[in-house]
Amino acid sequence: MATIADEMKLKAQEIADHAHAKIARLDEELSKIEKQKAKIDAERHKARGALERAAKFPVKSGADYLCPLCWVDEAKASTLRPVPSPDRHDIFRCNTCHFEAVI
Ligand SMILES: [Zn+2]
Repeated sequence: MATIADEMKLKAQEIADHAHAKIARLDEELSKIEKQKAKIDAERHKARGALERAAKFPVKSGADYLCPLCWVDEAKASTLRPVPSPDRHDIFRCNTCHFEAVI
């Protein structure tokens, strides 16, 4: 027959089991938050790089204009080519990402 002390130990163990499950759940939440934080840090780092590249956009490479989108977002020096315009505007299209600049 179980003693009062045995019953109390059992109750304490049940409470400990709940705490154990709670710790596991909180660890999982922390892990998700840390992954999200790492993703935000990476995006922020990329955006910082974009700011620096925009400030140093060389505009041209030789005779060709460079794509500002490829340069700023991807750090790529992609050239633009003139495309026929239906009006008096100049249109340049990126050979890589197909960004269009209408001037
Ligand atoms: Zn481009």
